[in-house]
Amino acid sequence: TKTAASNFIQNIIADDFDTNKHGGRVHTRFPPEPNGYLHIGHAKSICLNFGIALENGGLCNLRFDDTNPSKEEVEYVESIQEDVKWLGFDWGDRMFYASDYFEKLYQFAVKLINEGKAYVCDLSPEEIREYRGTLTQPGKESPYRSRSREVNLALFERMRAGEFEDGSRVLRAKIDMASPNLNMRDPVLYRILRATHHRTGDKWCIYPMYDYAHPLSDALEKITHSICTCEFEDHRPLYDWALEAVDTEYRPQQIEFARLNLSYTVMSKRKLRQLVEENHVSGWDDPRMPTISGLRRRGYTPESIRDFCERIGVAKAVSMVDLALLEHCIREDLNIRAPRVMAVLNPLKVIIENYPEGQVEELEAEYNSENPELGSRKIPFSRIVYIEQDDFMEEPPKKFFRLYPGSEVRLKHAYIIKCERVVKDEQGRIVEIYCTYDPDTKSGSGTSTKKVKGTLHWVSAEHAVKAEVRLYDRLFTKENPDEGADFKTFLNPDSLKLLGNCMVEPSLAKAAPGSRFQFLRHGYFSIDAKDSNENKLVFNRIVSLKDSWAK
Ligand code: ATP
Ligand code: MG
Ligand code: MG
Repeated sequence: TKTAASNFIQNIIADDFDTNKHGGRVHTRFPPEPNGYLHIGHAKSICLNFGIALENGGLCNLRFDDTNPSKEEVEYVESIQEDVKWLGFDWGDRMFYASDYFEKLYQFAVKLINEGKAYVCDLSPEEIREYRGTLTQPGKESPYRSRSREVNLALFERMRAGEFEDGSRVLRAKIDMASPNLNMRDPVLYRILRATHHRTGDKWCIYPMYDYAHPLSDALEKITHSICTCEFEDHRPLYDWALEAVDTEYRPQQIEFARLNLSYTVMSKRKLRQLVEENHVSGWDDPRMPTISGLRRRGYTPESIRDFCERIGVAKAVSMVDLALLEHCIREDLNIRAPRVMAVLNPLKVIIENYPEGQVEELEAEYNSENPELGSRKIPFSRIVYIEQDDFMEEPPKKFFRLYPGSEVRLKHAYIIKCERVVKDEQGRIVEIYCTYDPDTKSGSGTSTKKVKGTLHWVSAEHAVKAEVRLYDRLFTKENPDEGADFKTFLNPDSLKLLGNCMVEPSLAKAAPGSRFQFLRHGYFSIDAKDSNENKLVFNRIVSLKDSWAK
């Protein structure tokens, strides 16, 4: 398997150690903008940044990139911390906010103005765009580009003091309007924006742009390797320009890698927020969401997500990862770890007519035949049990090895039963099945050598606990919902199926919220930590048993 040690970024770091480029240090950061909940794509970045630091004896900061006050909220700051911790990473005492640096960033800007490297521009946003030119056409210099140092300093101070309207002026870098790289054509460094910031309140009415704040925040934190996704490759010259123009003590280096795209999923926070706000899902932590909180609530383990991030590897080339791989990772993890229990999702009553009325047997049942360490529990067996409706057919096709009139099957951990007859209601629907059992076939201790082809899961009717089970399917029907029409037109109308009448074995009644099980023959399920309570058991299907991942 691939480890972070074998990716191209680790190779760069190894070279940097050899040349002593960063004084033998490795210091990375994970820099989320607190404008939404983290998703599985962020998990890739978290595993990479924290992983690189861990493997090289370095450090990784958590930095909130909070330079965009209108879109940011405290709720997101909190959820991000919870998610990073849950994934298993520790930033120690190195949690920072870009907003901590607002004063320093302002002073750096003053320095740039003083050195003739930045100017206040009065062009409107439309004019700035127009003047910028295109890939085939050089840009045009702003008429304000030649303002004197003194005028610029005074105007920038007045911008900060709140003397000008939002959007009426900006501070721009003075670089090169003819640069083949559009990002270098005098990019905006500061804008005027009256919005209450989640930390600095109304203290500021000018805010630094990402391309200015990010390299300087990295430098202030003495980051060595600033790892970001490939869409910032064209911004790297500007990243380096800012460090050089300000003449920072530390010179971090930006390295880009391909962002994760997952099939049948959208990943941008903007789109995920739309799903939440327009009630297509129940919230950011809806178990169908690709958010870390959604995956957690669904029942995914942090180990499975870290394993997934390791398997997909880190490269420069953009690709689409099959959702089946993520599902494969959780199956691999839970196969051994999860207790295997019995739950009947669509119950059909079976009466075992030769079993004494009122008798209850406690059957010893191991939790996981592949993992004896999980031990066993007792399950009650009695005269009336529930089996799965799908496990009975009155007129079965060939090779149907389950229950039908005259057939014999084993009830898991219990006895072999034989179907004697079917009882229907007035509409012709099957309501109950009468069977007989063979007392010599008790699992583990029976004397009979009888063999049957089918084994069914079941629960004792008198002892079973009622539960709601939520079956999830992929949220979108199209492999790439970002392609073509509006992504919401590809929402899967059947992504949630509610089963309100399930019967589960009594050992599950007191299971802890969030705990995970294999329901025999069905898949992996977890107790919904939000909606499940003493009066109502709610299970989420994490994933079915059938693995469609092509190894
Ligand atoms: P979105 O478009 O979903 O809002 P973003 O990149 O704007 O994503 P940030 O909060 O800025 O979101 O991301 C924090 C870090 O996570 C960045 O370094 C970013 O490159 C990385 N990241 C975001 N999405 C992905 C992804 N799909 N795959 C890998 N890394 C990602
Ligand atoms: Mg971003
Ligand atoms: Mg974004």
